[in-house]
Amino acid sequence: NNNSMNQGNSKIQVVLRKRPLLQKEIEKGNGAEVVEVVNRQQINLLDPDEINQRYNLHYNVNKNRFKETHFTFDNVFDENSNNFQIYQEVGEQYLNDILEGFNTTIFAYGATGAGKTYTMVGSKDMPGLMNMMLDGLFQKVKQKEVTHDVTIRIAYMEIYNENLKDLISSDQKNLELREDPKSDVTLIHGLTEVEVTDPQSIANILRVGAKNRSKDSTISNEASSRSHAILQISIESADRAEGLEKEIIVSKLSLVDLAGSERAWSNKSKVSKLEGAKINQSLLTLGNCIQALSEQSEKGPSKNNFIPYRGSKLTRLLKDSLGGNCRTVMIANISGSIISFEDTYNTLQYASRAKNI
Ligand code: ADP
Ligand code: MG
Repeated sequence: NNNSMNQGNSKIQVVLRKRPLLQKEIEKGNGAEVVEVVNRQQINLLDPDEINQRYNLHYNVNKNRFKETHFTFDNVFDENSNNFQIYQEVGEQYLNDILEGFNTTIFAYGATGAGKTYTMVGSKDMPGLMNMMLDGLFQKVKQKEVTHDVTIRIAYMEIYNENLKDLISSDQKNLELREDPKSDVTLIHGLTEVEVTDPQSIANILRVGAKNRSKDSTISNEASSRSHAILQISIESADRAEGLEKEIIVSKLSLVDLAGSERAWSNKSKVSKLEGAKINQSLLTLGNCIQALSEQSEKGPSKNNFIPYRGSKLTRLLKDSLGGNCRTVMIANISGSIISFEDTYNTLQYASRAKNI
């Protein structure tokens, strides 16, 4: 049986991460920054008019639409932070709860180019949270295996245009989701789940998955900005001492590299209306679920709010890993460049709303 039905409070931990300027931002925006990290919790947006003047730029920013200038988060990381710090200060603290049976979701939110994949997937030189959480989990499991039988399985998926694909198998056909009528658990027909026994095999699986991500697209960079990548790690553990009546603790850690949050229908992108609408369906539904969960946690557990999990593939997948007794972490990624002012503003606003949960 599963611990996730226990009483508990859902609270989203909202983390903000500002990445360093890229070369093109230094060139096009004269290195101008509109974001000031005040301290470990606070961010200020600077006056774009002033920045334009100071750096001899002419970025058109409609200040009536961008009124808020102060934002507070549970945790703010500036451009000097690295992925290991994010792991140590944000991710690692959840490992014990995960092994105790609490489903946990960590997702990276932000516009294309803001640093989501860098944070979640990373590179060979600087692995991301997916690698680090799995490594951390293995270390904990090693201790737990003195008294318990523990099994870890991983699945790696992608949602692109509301189609679900397996990233571990090279088979590119769409996977089907079905709700088990008895338990209301979402089942994924044909999904590859790999049992992992050592950290080395994980790195390989993650590499294969990253390669498979939207490989059917000719413009893979653009495609990856419209796809959600979901790594699901299932952990089962049973106390050996309890003999036949042993309780099996089951839990799930979901690590999600979300699609870009910028408006898919903006005239700059070549995304068709249909594709844009579908992308927004998963992102919008995620937002709506988070909103509904926040209202629920304000009212208390006695009131049962309707949570629109059914509205998208992503939220159907995460249904048992958001809200309720789950742990949820949102890492909002931004650039400080004046070029990205609008994206950055939208992300700050979205993230600070999520924090009110
Ligand atoms: P996204 O996945 O949100 O579209 P990426 O993670 O691909 O964005 O990041 C865009 C670019 O910025 C990449 O070249 C990446 O290497 C770089 N980048 C992102 N975050 C950081 C960071 N914290 N430090 C250094 N470079 C970063
Ligand atoms: Mg990306």
